[in-house]
Amino acid sequence: MSSLPPLLLANWKMNLCVSESRSLARAIAKSVLNARKNKSTRANVQVVLVPSFTALDAVARVGSRSGAFSIGAQDCFWEERGAYTGEESVCSLREIGVSFVLIGHSERRQYVNESNEAIRKKIECVSNDSTMIPVLCIGENHSQKVLGKRKSVLQQQLLSALKGLFQRRLTREIVIAYEPVWAIGTGVPATAVDCAEVYRYIRGLMENAWGAAAVGRLCRIIYGGSVSESTVTDFVSKDISDGALIGGASLTASGFTRIVHGVMDSL
Ligand code: PEP
Repeated sequence: MSSLPPLLLANWKMNLCVSESRSLARAIAKSVLNARKNKSTRANVQVVLVPSFTALDAVARVGSRSGAFSIGAQDCFWEERGAYTGEESVCSLREIGVSFVLIGHSERRQYVNESNEAIRKKIECVSNDSTMIPVLCIGENHSQKVLGKRKSVLQQQLLSALKGLFQRRLTREIVIAYEPVWAIGTGVPATAVDCAEVYRYIRGLMENAWGAAAVGRLCRIIYGGSVSESTVTDFVSKDISDGALIGGASLTASGFTRIVHGVMDSL
């Protein structure tokens, strides 16, 4: 387990337009602040909202005014600027106040054929920015799971994305999101026992490269895939995992804040 606070990231994907994102952010801010007031001794949970690019600025304004949450982006490009039509740079994200960036989400690997090489470049670009934390998403699909290839798939995804960073000392935070593809959006999460084994494996690979002390101080391993208010504490509570990446269940203020409250209560 990491010494950092548990992390709850709400990945809104392409589900909300700008005004809907702003309203949801306001409702979540109100509820998170209330929860912190009522549970002050157990409120050490880091909440991050991850809207689409066009809604980042509106949601970031709610975040900075309220202090209730941080902001994440769903992707970025690896160059600072240039002729890359349709891409977004770390420089623009930094200016808006983004502090987390999802990289290598399975939907990007699947729908826009994001390659391991592109993911590696993005990880290195975000890691070089002192204000931003990369969230590397890895996970096996259903057939890889059935064929017993889970560990080899995770190892391959992790080693290829972190190839450059594994050559250096770890000096900045990084988050690894274990998201089995077969659990995303299906309503069927992995079991906590399965996850515990995977976390141990991922942590071991990182400790080999960076050492246990740096990993404990700077790395969080979180779970994603059909997390709901009724299952979140199977994944996020003392000694299990360092947080969760939440898709569908983060799209209503009541649902998402029940998840936040549940985690706060479990600490
Ligand atoms: C995700 O896509 O990162 C995710 C975890 O989605 P869901 O919670 O809807 O499975």
